Amino acid sequence: MRPFVKTFKITVLPGDGIGPDVTREALRVLEAVKAGLSGVEFECEEHAVGAAEYLRNGNPLPKSALEACRHSDAVLLGAMGLPDVRWPDGKEMTPQLDIREEFQLYAGLRPIYLFHENDSPLKGYEGGGIDFSIVRESTEGLFSARLAQGDPDGDEMRDVMRITRAGSERVIRFAFQEAMKRRKRVTLVDKSNVLPSMVFFRSVFDGIAKEFPEVEAERVYVDAAALYLVNRPAHFDVMVTENMFGDILSDLAAGLIGGMGMAPSGDIGDDCAVFQPSHGSAPDIAGKGVANPIATILSVAMMLEWLGHEETRRGAAIVTNAVKTVMSDPSLRTPDMGGALSTSEMGDRVIGAL
Ligand code: ATP
Repeated sequence: MRPFVKTFKITVLPGDGIGPDVTREALRVLEAVKAGLSGVEFECEEHAVGAAEYLRNGNPLPKSALEACRHSDAVLLGAMGLPDVRWPDGKEMTPQLDIREEFQLYAGLRPIYLFHENDSPLKGYEGGGIDFSIVRESTEGLFSARLAQGDPDGDEMRDVMRITRAGSERVIRFAFQEAMKRRKRVTLVDKSNVLPSMVFFRSVFDGIAKEFPEVEAERVYVDAAALYLVNRPAHFDVMVTENMFGDILSDLAAGLIGGMGMAPSGDIGDDCAVFQPSHGSAPDIAGKGVANPIATILSVAMMLEWLGHEETRRGAAIVTNAVKTVMSDPSLRTPDMGGALSTSEMGDRVIGAL
């Protein structure tokens, strides 16, 4: 009798700029790690999305791509958007935000891990010394104002910070569950000394914290969080915050561990998830073969973990360990981190270390 094979359908959206460059390497890593796993298969289906697709067909997120995402087990995304390609009203295209809202991917999970002391601009942190996750609310907050129409010639514009009880409860609960798997500390990042919406967010946090008596719950204002991230990043375990604060702090946090090319992410909902590097399309280096693929490769590891099968989780650990092995040698870096490896050479190194 043939052994049962579980097939996972993965929708792949390489997107714009360096998206295709880094996705290519991540898929090579996925293919290579699969060879060592038993009983699982990956059926990857690629779809064109993003600013380039808009130029071709008038829609950056075609219905066929959206439907493929809906019917897959997970989505792997490169990057979307190009600064020169905008909607008629001047706004940049951000189909990745449309996907988050369409599928209610409320928890933006952004792990920050320092592999090697040379890669941090901070002194005194060894590999592993910076190890925390930011959980960014990804369906509301200040980003909920993004589709509002404004009059650029008027005298006033407003953006609304939308914080709902249901939206806050689910993301805060997610953060606590994440902390249960880690060092059991959750830091709420808010601005409740100034904004009523943040007083509300904090009161929801306080309520959820009671459900997790084993987890230490602390509260920090966002401005102080920016300071503490620089002067004591090792303190943090899981940070939870609203959409815009999370957007800003996750770039700061990526800077602590070597830059955007090192920061993976998962946009996670109750039954659907999209994995992508935290960086954007970086058009300045697109197609030059120099983009750092590590963030996307680590996003594949997150995807394997999230798929939740015993073998995919084993695959996640194998990929993460391979990245650890490569990063333990400071001479193996792409140009963004002062090295000379090309995107595909970095992919080769990780595959070699699997
Ligand atoms: P977004 O707003 O979509 O997040 P952004 O315009 O803020 O995008 P990114 O596209 O993330 O910014 O890139 C900012 C800069 O960081 C790029 O110009 C590029 O030089 C660098 N960068 C980002 N990702 C990588 C990567 N994977 N490898 C090397 N450099 C990168």
